[in-house]
Amino acid sequence: MTTTPTTTRLLDNYVGGRWTPSSSQDAVPVTNPATGETLARVPLSSASDLDAAVGAAREALPVWRGVSVIERGRRLFALREALDARREDLARSVTTEMGKTIADARAEVARMVEMVECACAVPTTMQGRIVEDVSRNVDAEFVRQPVGVCAAIVPFNFPAMVPFWFLPFAIGCGNTFVLKPSEQVPLTQQLAFEILDSLELPPGVVNLVNGGREVVEGILDHPGIDAISFVGSAPVARLVYERAAKAGKRVQALGGAKNHMVVMPDAVIDKTVAGIVGSAFGAAGQRCMAGSVVVTVGEAHDRLMGPLEEAAAALRVGDGIDESTELGPVVSEQARERIVAAIERAVEDGARLAVDGRDPGVEGDGSFLGATVLDEVAPDTEAAREEIFGPVLSVIRAGSLDEAIEIVGGSRFGNGVSIFTENGASVRRFRHEVEAGMVGVNIGVAAPVAFFPFSGWKDSFLGDLHAHGPDAVEFYTRKKTVTSRWFSHGQGTGPYFVEN
Ligand code: NAD
Repeated sequence: MTTTPTTTRLLDNYVGGRWTPSSSQDAVPVTNPATGETLARVPLSSASDLDAAVGAAREALPVWRGVSVIERGRRLFALREALDARREDLARSVTTEMGKTIADARAEVARMVEMVECACAVPTTMQGRIVEDVSRNVDAEFVRQPVGVCAAIVPFNFPAMVPFWFLPFAIGCGNTFVLKPSEQVPLTQQLAFEILDSLELPPGVVNLVNGGREVVEGILDHPGIDAISFVGSAPVARLVYERAAKAGKRVQALGGAKNHMVVMPDAVIDKTVAGIVGSAFGAAGQRCMAGSVVVTVGEAHDRLMGPLEEAAAALRVGDGIDESTELGPVVSEQARERIVAAIERAVEDGARLAVDGRDPGVEGDGSFLGATVLDEVAPDTEAAREEIFGPVLSVIRAGSLDEAIEIVGGSRFGNGVSIFTENGASVRRFRHEVEAGMVGVNIGVAAPVAFFPFSGWKDSFLGDLHAHGPDAVEFYTRKKTVTSRWFSHGQGTGPYFVEN
């Protein structure tokens, strides 16, 4: 691990509308994975830091709920404008602390802004329903009210976007919010909260608590928190889901993935290769929607492998901040070592190392890996089944579309899947039968836009309501049903009711 000079900036939390030092003495370095440089130190906040944030959020709840939904929508418009003005700063922050290329980071920030745009519709999306005369002179309606104090716990791979899968929707619906960013990449949310701070929301509407496991466990058990959103690895997603549900909280937990890309014999090969390479190696494979397994059907294998190997081997590896880089570093040296070990186990399990990215020859202290392609991977081995979360692509052969669908269905995950073909009947069959929540057709990463739910299945998602889109309003509101009758015009005989 990089040694940290004590002069490096120690990050603050944001509690009750003020930047506040953590009470904890523990801190860990934040490192630029392209250079090994220490960028800052992030505190591992304590239970009392979390208490202060939850206390501020609870205090703000009646104030914020009392702000009209139209005004809350306007504040989101202002947030959208303020983020838009700082797009490039946010993107550079993402690349510097996480490693993805600046092009990938700009795309991520565009999605972050899009989330706010979607949440701006809250005066419409929060509407309830009414029906008159469910009985004589009796009306029934439901209204949507905020859930309360909502928390989000987020991973390292999308430092800008994933927190904004939740924050704008939560506060738009009148909730107050506590965010725990990933301790590996806390800097982008520092910037996002500087932007939020400039909007002068009532103190306590949004709060930021830096830290690790202790803060997460505090959130799961805290009696002042009503709803929790989690995004991260599958084992932690399960832990969060079970413990938060046991404590009676509303919870959604998005976990890991192993995403398949099925290539049919009639696929348009150059476009397919471009889609696969972008999907497998974009963000150095550190995306829950990364395509990490190609399933070739029949002679697709022979048509695909040459161009695929060539394209993967040609990717320019380097610091993501350099505009010409096509593949940035992985997030840390520990991640690099873990990924190399996974490649070596795959070879021991019989895979052919078609493209070997273990030593990309980049000088300096960055945690770089080139693109690796593993061919002839057996479907029951680790390289076919487990998330590697690095620039590693496994290739499996299938004899038919049926067999390919079966291979996908055999995974314990069910996040994203793609098919490459020009045959409509194959597409219809695939999208109807495949066991995954997000399907791409001739598209590598089919991550839904903000206006649709992010809908992983199986071990990739625990809960009922997914992230963003219409599900966000469902998650961040409680329905209240009112049944009413009025007497002053005379029950059932007034001008509004004529009995036959
Ligand atoms: P992670 O599970 O290690 O960490 C996620 C969050 O949980 C962090 O804030 C971390 O501080 C906290 N945490 C980690 N270990 C913990 C523990 N034992 N107890 C309590 N809290 C803990 O995940 P990561 O490495 O930051 O992110 C990568 C993972 O996230 C991958 O598995 C990826 O597929 C997944 N992911 C999923 C989605 C999705 O939408 N399904 C999106 C992005 C990332």
